[in-house]
Amino acid sequence: MTSYQDFDDHIAQINDLCCVINLLNWDARTQMPAGGNETRGRQMGTVARLAQELFASDQTARLLDSVEAEIAGEDSGSYRVRAVRQAREAYELSRRVPVKLVAELNTLKSVAQQYWDEAKESNDFDHFAPSLERIMEMTRQVAHYIGYQDHPYDALLLRYEPGMTAARLKKIFSELKETILPILERAAAQGDPRLDFLDRDYPEEGQRAFSLEVASEFGYDLNRGRLDRSAHPFEISFTRNDVRITTRYNRRFLPQALFGTLHECGHAIYEQNVDPALTGTALTTDLLDLYAVGGVSYGTHESQSRLWENLVGRSYGFWQVHYPRLKHVFPSQLADASLEEFYRAINRVHPSPIRTEADEVTYNLHIMLRVEIEMALMEDKLAVKDLPEVWNEKTRAYLGIIPPDNKRGVLQDIHWSAGLVGSFPTYTIGNIMSAQWYTAAQRDLPEMDAALEQGNYAPLFGWLRDHVYRYGRTFSASELLQRATGSDLNSERYRAYLSKKYGELFPE
Ligand code: ZN
Repeated sequence: MTSYQDFDDHIAQINDLCCVINLLNWDARTQMPAGGNETRGRQMGTVARLAQELFASDQTARLLDSVEAEIAGEDSGSYRVRAVRQAREAYELSRRVPVKLVAELNTLKSVAQQYWDEAKESNDFDHFAPSLERIMEMTRQVAHYIGYQDHPYDALLLRYEPGMTAARLKKIFSELKETILPILERAAAQGDPRLDFLDRDYPEEGQRAFSLEVASEFGYDLNRGRLDRSAHPFEISFTRNDVRITTRYNRRFLPQALFGTLHECGHAIYEQNVDPALTGTALTTDLLDLYAVGGVSYGTHESQSRLWENLVGRSYGFWQVHYPRLKHVFPSQLADASLEEFYRAINRVHPSPIRTEADEVTYNLHIMLRVEIEMALMEDKLAVKDLPEVWNEKTRAYLGIIPPDNKRGVLQDIHWSAGLVGSFPTYTIGNIMSAQWYTAAQRDLPEMDAALEQGNYAPLFGWLRDHVYRYGRTFSASELLQRATGSDLNSERYRAYLSKKYGELFPE
């Protein structure tokens, strides 16, 4: 056997363990009775530890050394070279943080999530504050060990969006504010569209059938996928041949399951269309997080969910084709709502305290306020005990509203209790990228717009498969963007998209 085959087999074993963790995780969130919580936690911990030990082993170091010698001189863009480089980078990075600190943080996370859950339930921030303080303290230590030049936040971004920095984010945010705030002002001045027909009785079967039909039209292959129900919607994969999504139904609010499903379907289409040659390799495994995933970065993944959900699914052209069919599924519920009224209702711009319920425009403001808070916490310029007050103040400054309680304010998101500090920016990065991919596809495919208006998604899907999906983790997000669109991350296209769409909805 060559060194490369040994290396590939070794990584494939780690990938198998990661897929097992994903499967245990999927089951816990969709099928498992509540009583299984504790034992399942232990099982997942055991498999995660095995994967961790395998990757951090001396065997990995030896294999990397010999495989690097074997592939020296090969084309720097080949899968082999890229896979070895990814594994080497993850290996070196993971060794910077002491094993003891990682273990302590993992233990703390499971305890903290329970405190967060209880604190949210009882609207009592103080119940969660001590665990949060420790998480932030340990996260500062992690940033210290990883190392950074300008800002501790840069070290955390390395995990979710390599290449992104606090300084770049600040610039992007100020550009976005210039576009978003005037739209928000005009929307507020012009008042809400008609919304009553969204809040009618929409039986679950109809919602499910319609969402799945659209998901398949977009390109989600149900022979290698399925849709289940969960409290929080998610997408998860066990190689490209089994990529599952979940959604949450609200009988009295049609958009929830519909757009939630299209969102997760965008994530799933990405995973299903990675080049089969990459299955089980370092180019479909996040070796730093030990997570089986084909997408290159959190932001790139999010760009696909947002592209299908928003740029396609919330467009006027999409509903010209699909509204008659939706009306066919829900004839009495939508009898008195015109296409125009429906389109305006699903694109309502309205500040609300909850991020996950936010519209396309105000969503980014929710991200900005969280990121500003995270940066201040990492610099030790903000104390955890002051968080509720700072949160409310920032929500007022950005959105003009004050959350009615901490449950719908500082306690609303699970991220911090799960140790995810530095991941929020990737939602906005995803929004920005989605417009870059879309306009590049338009530029390359003159027939794309006409096809979309006919409900033909094949040209757009094919372009994304050839320029984004197939590569898995082969290229960095920045390389992918430059190869496919000609430029690095840049907010210009996204701002132009928002200005055009919402300029028509809320004219000056
Ligand atoms: Zn998403």
